[in-house]
Amino acid sequence: MLTSSDCGALIVFALNRHRNLAAISDVELWLNPRLNRPFTLDATLTIGYGAPHQRKRPAATNRRGADHKRGLISPVTTNTLPSQLPIGAPLSEERAAWVNSIASLSARFADRARVTTKDGSLKMAKPYPRVYVPGIVSKLTGTPVLLLSDASKMPSLSFSLPAGASCPWALYGEGTICGDCYAQKGRYVMPNVAAAQQARYEWVRRCMRSPEGIAEFVSVMTDAISRARNLYFRGHDSGDMFSPAYVRAWAAVCRALPDVRFWFPSRAWRVLTIKGVSDHTRSEWALALSDLASLPNVALRPSALFFNAPAPRIPGWAAGTTAADEGFNCPAPTQGNICGSCRVCWDQPNTEVSYHRH
Ligand code: SF4
Repeated sequence: MLTSSDCGALIVFALNRHRNLAAISDVELWLNPRLNRPFTLDATLTIGYGAPHQRKRPAATNRRGADHKRGLISPVTTNTLPSQLPIGAPLSEERAAWVNSIASLSARFADRARVTTKDGSLKMAKPYPRVYVPGIVSKLTGTPVLLLSDASKMPSLSFSLPAGASCPWALYGEGTICGDCYAQKGRYVMPNVAAAQQARYEWVRRCMRSPEGIAEFVSVMTDAISRARNLYFRGHDSGDMFSPAYVRAWAAVCRALPDVRFWFPSRAWRVLTIKGVSDHTRSEWALALSDLASLPNVALRPSALFFNAPAPRIPGWAAGTTAADEGFNCPAPTQGNICGSCRVCWDQPNTEVSYHRH
């Protein structure tokens, strides 16, 4: 029989390789009836395809070939792993090496987001580790709060803080993007979502007050993002950089995860240009922001202040973003309001991005 650690490695492997897999339980369902007989790598490659009734189909070389063409399965694993896992044998060196090789392959970061349809509407789905904000519960429900958010538009998880409260460089008024902020309406103002954002903000602010707290933030966030094993991460689908210490903490997270690509939209660039800011404050922010922007796995993008304004350009930062009524180049509005296969915000730091006005 397979050991439980073998099963764990196989489940991780299967989750890693198969984007149509709904949950770990799907893999377990698939594995359980088969633990008494050998199965081949080809068989494992069929784990979890499609809905349960579809999975009864035999191993599908064509399917795998099609996925190779779409780039969903890297050819490397099929060439480098032995073709058969012996069942019922003691944990031989060969078997241990096989399982270990699966585990190490599974540990890599990859673009794991997939598109599903739910009730006819398109939705991005991605691995979603259940990591909670340490030591804080929701004031509304009294229950733990998830650390990361899963915005259905994007191929990444994100970190979500209360818009406005965590945006010291927001500009309000006629025609401003912050004045009509998407993160201060809709689902973001639902009591449970707002309470969760508030709990995260409370935790982050506490962390930023001491070196130990900053170390806690970096450790918790690094662990949560790495557990998703997703290639992409968005800093703030709501909220912004609210202090230089917070910027430095994110830089430490990004340094700790060089294989993950981070995208941060921000209006903190304003501190570099506006009047009424002390030299000390400006230089503190400038140092922290330029350090974050300099990291090769980070796209720190300056966000425009006004609808239909040009995207800002800040030296050392990635190209800016804006929001427009027309002429936008973000394809999301034309493809069900999801990113789909587009990764421009992360992968093309020199490309300005114009979003459709929400
Ligand atoms: S430009 Fe591409 S990656 Fe960026 S938000 Fe739009 S669809 Fe997503």
